[in-house]
Parts: sequence; C-alpha cells; structure tokens
Amino acid sequence: MSYRPPDKLKTTVVGSYPYFSEALKAFQLRKKGQRGPEYESLVKEATRRAVEDYINVGLDIIADGEQRREDMAVFFAEELGGFEISDLVRIFDNVYFRKPVIADRITWIHEIVFGDWKYASGISRGRPVKVTLTGPYTMYSWSFDKFYGDPRKAILDLAEALRKEIEALVGAGAAYIQVDEPAFSTRAEKSDLEIAEEAFEIMFEGLDNVKRITHICYGKLERLFPAILDFPIDQIDLETKNSNYKVLDLLREYSFDKELALGVVDVHSSRIEAVDEVIEGILRGLEVVRPDKLYVKPDCGLKRLSREVALAKLENMVKAAKKVREELA
Ligand SMILES: [Zn+2]
Repeated sequence: MSYRPPDKLKTTVVGSYPYFSEALKAFQLRKKGQRGPEYESLVKEATRRAVEDYINVGLDIIADGEQRREDMAVFFAEELGGFEISDLVRIFDNVYFRKPVIADRITWIHEIVFGDWKYASGISRGRPVKVTLTGPYTMYSWSFDKFYGDPRKAILDLAEALRKEIEALVGAGAAYIQVDEPAFSTRAEKSDLEIAEEAFEIMFEGLDNVKRITHICYGKLERLFPAILDFPIDQIDLETKNSNYKVLDLLREYSFDKELALGVVDVHSSRIEAVDEVIEGILRGLEVVRPDKLYVKPDCGLKRLSREVALAKLENMVKAAKKVREELA
C-alpha cells in the first residue's frame, strides 16, 4: 500500500506518544530483567496502538511512538556497550532518577531501535516512519563519565556507535532519521557545537538519500545560531510554539535555507489549540520558509500528555495544515 504525502506542509510528530498500559507493563518487566516474549508482545501492542492513532489522526510522516523507551537517555545507555546505569540518584527533594554512567569504551553491540521501526513500518499503511535517536551530545551531557575524561572522544565514539544503527536502518529503507539533541539548547558552548558537528558528520556522511534531521527544544535556541546552519543536516526540528516563535527572527536574520519542522502545538500545556491558532503559527513559519520546506508538528514528544489531549491537539494541527494547503493551492 502506498501513501503519497502532500508536497507542502507535511504533518509529522517529534516521536514519543503517551504510553499505553501495555508499555507501562513492559517497563515493569524490563526493570526486573524480564525481556522475554511477554515483554516483546507488550511493546509490540503499545507500538501498534501508537501507530494506529498517528495514522487515524491523519499524519503524513509518523513515528513508532517510542513505547519501549521510558527514558530517552537511559534506554540507549542500556542498549549500547560501555554504559552502566546508576542506582537512583537524588536530584531534588524527593525527585530521584537513574543516570547512565560511562564505564568503558562506548560501542554498538546490537540493533537498538531497528526492530520497532521495522515493525511500525510494516503496519504504517505506506506512511514513512521517522526514526528517532538520542544524539551523542545529549547522551554525553546526561551521563556521568567515569572512563573518557574527554568529552570529544566520548561524543565521537557515541556517534560511531549510532552510525552503525543508522546504516542498518537506511539499508532497510528508513528515509527519515532524526537525532534528538535537547541538550544543545541548555548546555552547548561554542566548542561543544564544534564537537557535535563532527559527530553529525560521522553519523550522516555519505547518506544523501535520507532526510537528515535534528530535533532541539527549549532552553536558549539562539545559542545554536549560526553554528547549526553548517551541520550536515537537511531539516531542523524546533520547539517554537512554547517560546512564541521567537527563534523565527533568527532564522530570517541568517537567511535560513534548510527545511524547518515547526512546533505549532505546545506539549507543556493541556490546552487544545484552536485550528485558527495553529493556522496563525503555520503562517508565521511561512514568512521564513517555503511551504515545501515547512513541516508542521508539535513542539516536542507527546509522552507527557494524556492520549485524549494529544489526539485533540494533533487533530487540530492536521486540520490547520490542510486549510493552509488549500489556501496556497
Ligand atoms: Zn524535544
């Protein structure tokens, strides 16, 4: 079955979807080290339901919903060689979390997200399934380094490891590869961005037939410009609604000519944006980027919203994109 996306204002998501009960059960099994057939079938069912929702709401490019990943950094650390996971660390009053610890050289030992991408692609009724990977800079920033003592070495090894995953995915037909780097906007200094650029070169070198994307959100997006414009990527996926589209002024200033995935619904709020409000956001994006280069999507992953709210937001987003597309035609 093939699906032909529109050539303007394609709708998509950043990646994660609210967790289905099957995913929550799978997290419990995973914590006990029970990753057998029951675990796999729970993850599959949660993924199937996320994919169904994404298709039914009318998105052009979907994702697997990240139902296997309780935490975007811990998940990759558990699947890569070289990491250990700390016991619960207290970060704040009664807030505890587990943190990846780099204890040895980081290596790729087996496929990480490939299986879920493949499964989602098989049930996507022809829609492309975007792959989302937690990026090398963010993985390093959110880990304790007990092994390298040199961020550049660690980040480049992370990039080499992810490159192997990307090669497997591209070899199997994945057309949209997104590297999530939320730590860019909260931490990255100029020298960090130089290392990150090297990492992106490692991950994407020679892969000209895929859409190379990075997702960045919150914090100080302005720190990334103009350095990010030299990264070997086709599309920058940004949180824009929550910060009132402030970053668009910068894109204008730098004559931005990459593709832009524009956040038009706020994932930090349960308020459902009206169709007209979303249209207004899309029109702001169109002041800076041509309609064939503008993708319409939520600010960030949807996992913290309820399913009802997530669906209502996506519904209005899809309606708004359709309306603007009709006006442009
Ligand atoms: Zn995000």
